[in-house]
Amino acid sequence: MAKERLYLFDTTLRDGAQTNGVDFTLADKLAIARLLDELGIDYVEGGYPGANATDTELFASERKLNTTFTAFGMTRRPGRSASNDPGVAALLAAKADAICFVAKSWDYHVRVALETTEEENIASIRDSVRAAKEAGREVLLDCEHFFDGYKANPKFALACAKAAYDEGARWVVLCDTNGGTLPNEVETIVADVVKIIPGDHVGIHAHNDTEQAVANSFAAVRAGARHIQGTLNGLGERCGNANLVSIIPTLKLKKEFAERFEIGVSDEAMEHLAQVSHALDERLNRAPNRHAPYVGASAFATKAGIHASAIAKDPATYEHVAPEAVGNRRKVLVSEQAGKSNVVSELERIGIKVEKDDPRIGRLLELVKEREAIGYAYEAADASFDLLARRTFGKVPAYFDVTKFDVNVEHRLNAKGERITVTMAVVKLKVGDDSLISAAEGNGPVNALDQALRKDLGKYQDFIKGLHLTDYRVRILNGGTEAVTRVLIESADETGETWTTVGVSPNIIDASFQALMDSIVYKLVKSGAPA
Ligand SMILES: [Zn+2]
Repeated sequence: MAKERLYLFDTTLRDGAQTNGVDFTLADKLAIARLLDELGIDYVEGGYPGANATDTELFASERKLNTTFTAFGMTRRPGRSASNDPGVAALLAAKADAICFVAKSWDYHVRVALETTEEENIASIRDSVRAAKEAGREVLLDCEHFFDGYKANPKFALACAKAAYDEGARWVVLCDTNGGTLPNEVETIVADVVKIIPGDHVGIHAHNDTEQAVANSFAAVRAGARHIQGTLNGLGERCGNANLVSIIPTLKLKKEFAERFEIGVSDEAMEHLAQVSHALDERLNRAPNRHAPYVGASAFATKAGIHASAIAKDPATYEHVAPEAVGNRRKVLVSEQAGKSNVVSELERIGIKVEKDDPRIGRLLELVKEREAIGYAYEAADASFDLLARRTFGKVPAYFDVTKFDVNVEHRLNAKGERITVTMAVVKLKVGDDSLISAAEGNGPVNALDQALRKDLGKYQDFIKGLHLTDYRVRILNGGTEAVTRVLIESADETGETWTTVGVSPNIIDASFQALMDSIVYKLVKSGAPA
């Protein structure tokens, strides 16, 4: 039986850009649009041309994308004709394949916010859709506050939606703008809408204020909608938008949807989903959410020994889908509670083949237990465990040796009489027969040490070029005067892979140094740097 087509619309660059602390540059927007295009998203909403310089420039630029690149903006203002409205003019001037208008559909908003009549609001929808159609664009209409509007005055909300459809809008998108609608309500209301507008012209735009934006999107699809709007990683103002990174695999891997629908995202493209998700975090300079469904580092991680031995027999015992399908991987956490089977399967994953009775497995387990007793946390630091295991099996070359480092923090008055703190690190190291010395300033001692360490690694410098730190976490253990510091450092490289390393010491600089060293050595191992 032929499957029905469901369309995905990404608004990371428009609604997602409303997020606190998010400020995309033109280069960011173009790069993210390309990621979405390669993933197979049907529509990419680029922004609001005419509203700010970046978006105007974005829509003037050459993009070469397969996706339907969409401009967002308001329907004509009350009391003006569409041809005499500067907002509509900017939208029509933009190089966009489609135009998504936003319009009121809640009578209360029409009265209070827009200060106009219901008739004028509907006329504005009709005129704007018609103008964009006449200009040869595909047209979408976002019905703002549709669900709240429908609860208050269903007749008016439906009339707004119907006006756009009648004028030839390809999609009428029902927006849960305040994000407070629950899935059962969405399902009931969408079922009413598709009685007067065919479902293959109806879309859903859900916000996550009750943490049900994804569920609300599926509720709309169950009721007949065939277009889902969302963002990468659920980016968006307040609590975010519906998360496409969760929606895509659910549509493709869960029977209810997979049997009925097809989407533009291929199986091969979905194998890069985790990478796409992390690439956005990378651009935003955020640490990826470890617990993100499907793509988080912990999404397929198992800790307890009994689960791990079952997973080794058949992964389906504790996994709802195959991690590889979304570009993630199975992870068996090694900790002091670890059983032998955890260690064996972790070793296998990192490419060390061992016999079950190899005495080095026991030694590695002992080592993990000893080190965790003094504060190391290997289940949170996969890369440090990887190195510990490789070292136990003699598989880490002695790439370089730090013979000395020195970190200096100076607080003083500068020439202008202002108080400043200057930090400088000097690192001496040996790479083969070469002795190298590097100095660097930083915004703090760990940053300066990191800069100096990575400044010159001699013949290995090329291998660590793409390496950078993405997160740094410090925890004081034990408390009191006996306190030791645990530092966890998360790093990433040009491939989008992220890894975590750990260091423990009574001295925070020393703990950081260990974690930094592990991160660099891990990157060298992973890149196949020669000994
Ligand atoms: Zn929105």
